[in-house]
Amino acid sequence: MRCDLRKPTEPIPAASSQFVSAASLRTRLVWFDKLRWGAAAGVLGITLIAGLGLKAPLETRGLLLTGAVLVILNTVYTVRNWRFPAVDLGIELRLVKVQMVGDLLTLTILLNLSGGVENPLLFLYIIHVIIASLLFKGREIFQIAWLAIILFTAEVLGEYLGILPHHHLPVAGAAGHQLPFILMTLGSFWLVILFSAYIGALIMKHNRAIKDELVARQADLLGEDRAKTDFFRFVTHEIKNPVNTAQSGVETALELGGEDLSPSVRDVLERSVSRLKQATVIVRDLADLTRGGILKEENLALVDCNQLVAGVVDAHKDAAARAGLTMSMLLPDPPVTLTTIESMLETIVTNLVGNAIRYNREGGRVSVRLVDTGKRVRLVVEDEGIGIPRDEQQAIFDEFYRSTAARDKTNLGTGLGLSIVKKFVTALGGFIEVESAVGKGSTFTVTLPRKSRRKRRPMF
Ligand code: ADP
Repeated sequence: MRCDLRKPTEPIPAASSQFVSAASLRTRLVWFDKLRWGAAAGVLGITLIAGLGLKAPLETRGLLLTGAVLVILNTVYTVRNWRFPAVDLGIELRLVKVQMVGDLLTLTILLNLSGGVENPLLFLYIIHVIIASLLFKGREIFQIAWLAIILFTAEVLGEYLGILPHHHLPVAGAAGHQLPFILMTLGSFWLVILFSAYIGALIMKHNRAIKDELVARQADLLGEDRAKTDFFRFVTHEIKNPVNTAQSGVETALELGGEDLSPSVRDVLERSVSRLKQATVIVRDLADLTRGGILKEENLALVDCNQLVAGVVDAHKDAAARAGLTMSMLLPDPPVTLTTIESMLETIVTNLVGNAIRYNREGGRVSVRLVDTGKRVRLVVEDEGIGIPRDEQQAIFDEFYRSTAARDKTNLGTGLGLSIVKKFVTALGGFIEVESAVGKGSTFTVTLPRKSRRKRRPMF
């Protein structure tokens, strides 16, 4: 069974538009580019078939030229979207407004060349208003709606008054030249455009309210999470020294007492040492857990992973031998290096190898492999132990989770190790996967990038 844990929790950026990031706006823009390709293909295709193929009396040259301009503009937009990553939502929104003005102008020119008010395609303006309502807020949607109204009204009246040339649409009747028909068409056009803008703005306002509420709730949750972390950090800091002092005190008493201690006193002291060791593990895990998960450039260093993994495996040799386990290790040649935070990486390897030993079976095997895949490095820790049931494979990464089977096997454990591993792996820009079968064993695979980077936060 495989369980993928690649989804870190990113904070939703603050309210400001319906887009949570410049990247999400960009996704929509790519879709609009496709629509524009469709429109350009339609203009060029229909003109070529009707104008050149069927020899219909169309303004073929003008229509082909406008279609070509649309193709050139859309090529520029597409190449930009493809080559330059979206960083600033404000800039992206301004650019999309410019594109939209260009689209409305192009549509007006196309209509002028193909009958003006006689052309039923005049309702294509509505599509622009709907698109504007997906992208902008209330006032801006109406700006686009009014621009559509002004352009089309100017075009129709310009033609009627003889200011602009009129290119009669071959299939249209004579009604297109009558003032009552023109005014009726313009009236219904204004109504539909403004109503579309109103409905679009209303729907998007509702969506924004939902998004803003989600942002506020997430901020609350993050605040509570921070308070919890601060509390853990405080407790571990305050507890560490007394626990260490008590442990070394009892160990010294055991040493000094030597043979003079009665068996019952020795037994009490030895059990105290064992409990204090458990407390030390808990304090260490809590300290790791409350460590900042955010990467700071200054903590990054070039780390020899072969050396690090070999060191951790070596440190666990005695424990493995005591548990009757065989350990094997396979490292890449030449050695692989990562730009990462060494202490975090060491904790990841230590916790995984420690678990592979702890949850193994008598005579079992632990294999540690490091694989260089070029862009990434993969650490695979495999054991032949108790395994993890499928329905627990997500939960084992939760803080303080310990399965019943694990509790039966050993009481040495806090249930924090894997949540620390997941947190560190995510902070280093990687991900962790687990594959396991009950009674057969488990394989934990950590994949890390060559260079850990701080994640770029969206600006909005
Ligand atoms: P701990 O080992 O201190 O209990 P972890 O967070 O490291 O805490 O592990 C959480 C739980 O995941 C363990 O209690 C155990 O149930 C399960 N687990 C972790 N590693 C293994 C493994 N290699 N084999 C079987 N179960 C495992």
